[in-house]
Order: sequence, then C-alpha cells, then structure tokens
Amino acid sequence: MNKKLRKAVIAGNWKMNKNRAEAKALIEELKPLVKDADCGVIVCVPFTDLETVLAATEGSNICVGAQNCHFAPSGAFTGEIAATMLTEMGVEYVVLGHSERRQYFGETDVTVNKRLRAALDAGLKPIVCVGELLEQREQGVTAEVVGMQTRIALGGVSAEELKNIIIAYEPVWAIGTGKTATADQAGEVCGLIRATVADLYGKEAADGLTIQYGGSMNAGNAAELLAQEDVDGGLIGGAALKAPDFSAIVAAASK
Ligand code: PEP
Repeated sequence: MNKKLRKAVIAGNWKMNKNRAEAKALIEELKPLVKDADCGVIVCVPFTDLETVLAATEGSNICVGAQNCHFAPSGAFTGEIAATMLTEMGVEYVVLGHSERRQYFGETDVTVNKRLRAALDAGLKPIVCVGELLEQREQGVTAEVVGMQTRIALGGVSAEELKNIIIAYEPVWAIGTGKTATADQAGEVCGLIRATVADLYGKEAADGLTIQYGGSMNAGNAAELLAQEDVDGGLIGGAALKAPDFSAIVAAASK
C-alpha cells in the first residue's frame, strides 16, 4: 500500500451467501469491529440483501455494493438488474467482471466494458475484476492477459471517471481455492496493471488508482500482501463471511 498516494480499500464479496437475517447479524457484528478503520470498508452483498444492509450500515463507515449490474437502462432482460436500480436504492459500489461471472455466466471483456459504462453513467463506483487462469500463468502470458482485460474494460473511460474506479487483481486459480498468490506475485501483477493504466492515462492518474488483490486473502496473509507497494487493499470472498476474519483484514489495511 502507498497511503500517501491512494486510498486503501477492503471490500467483502459475499457471493451468493447470507439471507436477510444473517446479513443483518453480520453487519451488526462487524460495525463495532471496523468503526475505527483507516481504510475504506465495503460489503458487496446479494441483491436481496441490499435493502437490509443499506439500513443496517446507515451512519456507519461501511459502504455497500452489489455484485453485478446490467448494461441496459431497462428492458427485456429477465433476471437482470439495471445500474440505476441500484443507485436509486442508495447503493454506492458494484463488482464487475468477477471471474465467477466470466466462468459461469458468459461474461466477456466486452460485456464488462459495457457494464462499466452503464455503472459509471448511473453514478456507481465499479470494482473491476481482472485475472489470469492457471493455464495462462503456466504459459507465461499473465501480463498479456491482465493487460488486455484492463485495456478493454477501461475502453471509453475518461481520466475523470477513472477516479471512481477500483481494479481488483484476482488470479482465477487463487479464488476460493485456499491458494494465495505470493506477495511478490500479487505485487508484480498489480504493478503491471498500474503500468497499463499509466500508459492509458498518465502516471499521476495511475498513481492515484486503488488496485486490490483478491484470492484467498485472509487474516493470516493480509499483512504480507498489503505490504506490497502496489497492493492497495483486498477483495475478500470466504473471509468476508465472518466478522472477526474480515475485521482482521481491515485492521491489517489500517496500519
Ligand atoms: C472473491 O470472490 O473475489 C474472492 C477473492 O474469493 P476468496 O477470497 O474466497 O478467494
């Protein structure tokens, strides 16, 4: 982290977990544990929990995000949620391009870019996920893959809009597997993403961009990962479902 240049942010991705009662209980447990955090704290929750979590976090330092949004403003897209439907509720953030959306729901770099456009137009702050597959890492094309994902996702995004975006580097082989990238691997790829952004927008814009690492980050490995200059926080899956685990990562990012 380099807190002089940019904000550290820890975001929880609850995925398809927690009903409304469980969501409220988790937030109530979390609030006192993270109230003095010296970093941004976000919880990205299932659509059905948004109203509950928005109410439970009111007046606290916990921000609320969704886990996806559609690129159209409205229309015949059964099962989808428009970006403006989220902002109308008071939702601030949205995760886009998570590898599970890419793997199971046909998300591509191009649809990530379209969703990003819609999210920005609606006033949402996107957390854009990029990351290589295990085969790609083994073939030595991580830099090319992540660079391309970053460039396509940011197509048409202005330097001003970039200020509202977080990029999350999530190596697909590390998500939900218990396999964490080493601190050096995470730092190297987050640095590559920053270099790509510098190429597109200039050094100052890239220096101000928050880039998270995600992939089996937990209370035990967070400090080492966050010690990397270019790792500005974390996108946390499994460890976000328990208040003590999540708050320990927030504490590591607050140092
Ligand atoms: C994620 O879902 O973005 C993630 C990083 O999951 P986990 O922390 O469980 O690997």
